[in-house]
Amino acid sequence: MKRILVTGGAGFLGSHLIDRLLEQGHDVICLDNFFTGSKDNIRHLLDHDHFELIRHDVTEPILLEVDRIFNLACPASPVHYQYNAIKTIKTSVMGAIHMLGLAKRVHARILQASTSEVYGDPAVHPQVEEYWGNVNPIGVRSCYDEGKRAAETLMMDYNRMNKVDIRIIRIFNTYGPRMAIDDGRVVSNFIVQALKGEPLTVYGEGTQTRSFCYVDDLVNGMMKLMDHDSEIRPVNIGNPNEFTILQLAEAIQEILGSNVQIEHKPLPQDDPTQRQPDITRAKDVLGWEPKVGLAEGLKKTIPYFEQKLAELNKIGVKQA
Ligand code: NAD
Ligand code: UDP
Repeated sequence: MKRILVTGGAGFLGSHLIDRLLEQGHDVICLDNFFTGSKDNIRHLLDHDHFELIRHDVTEPILLEVDRIFNLACPASPVHYQYNAIKTIKTSVMGAIHMLGLAKRVHARILQASTSEVYGDPAVHPQVEEYWGNVNPIGVRSCYDEGKRAAETLMMDYNRMNKVDIRIIRIFNTYGPRMAIDDGRVVSNFIVQALKGEPLTVYGEGTQTRSFCYVDDLVNGMMKLMDHDSEIRPVNIGNPNEFTILQLAEAIQEILGSNVQIEHKPLPQDDPTQRQPDITRAKDVLGWEPKVGLAEGLKKTIPYFEQKLAELNKIGVKQA
């Protein structure tokens, strides 16, 4: 049994990770400032003997005694990370510095939640970990992309200079229950729009691609990487099945009914044109690969949003 800190633990991925860590019998501290996370995601854990919740912002230092740190604190949706761009880059960079400082002091192993966004608008396809990326350093997505790249740099430098035991996971688009209803990412947007009888908002022509990973697969990969004895190189974790955004909209139409309409909206600035993980390293080093396909994952996710919308309707909350 280990003492494990999960920053961003009240968020979408963090809350699923904590469920799994508690199932394994660990003691878990969830640290979150509730910017995009929610108590609803961890409410079922509040009375658990091995669970503690700390409201804290990772841009401030904190002293704790732990064996492992999963550093997930950071808004992940473009809408949310661009809402306060300066705060986003501070969260990535200062959060990494504070968590690495803590890891160094208490000799904890630390895993950084990095992202496929470190590849920017990639010129290499599919993306292999050796690829250095094609990132605009001054665009609207830079606060997130460059923040995450700097966090990776800090991880490597703390390892080289201070022998901190690091793990770096590059997460590709992941979806599932507990995404916020107003998260703004494409899977949750499309499901919520379809359930509300609104058209699906496809940005641009919808020819840009993404590869969607179901949350359970992602959490398995993240836990395997943390448990690996020695792998300090970045590891891509994602589902290599690539879809255009129009194909995603069609998959949702297929499940929720062909009367669901599509509406085109302007393409956001610097929106990557293609994204697909090469997961050879994850397969070779971790023996990991995803198991849940898109249609199956969507069917597991939709009931969650149905329930959330029903709860909001019941208390009379008007959705924008
Ligand atoms: P999320 O927004 O649901 O979770 C992020 C959590 O971090 C929230 O609970 C939020 O309140 C918390 N947080 C934000 N700023 C903080 C701060 N300054 N101090 C403390 N807590 C703070 O997003 P998610 O999808 O669960 O993402 C979790 C992590 O995984 C993020 O680091 C994200 O960049 C990374 N990631 C996610 C995806 C994905 O597809 N879900 C893809 C790539 C990377
Ligand atoms: N997108 C869309 N409609 C939406 C939300 C997103 O067409 O309502 C597109 C977006 O332009 C991008 C892709 O879907 O090409 C994935 O967007 P998301 O915000 O989920 O994450 P990203 O991979 O861009 O960080």
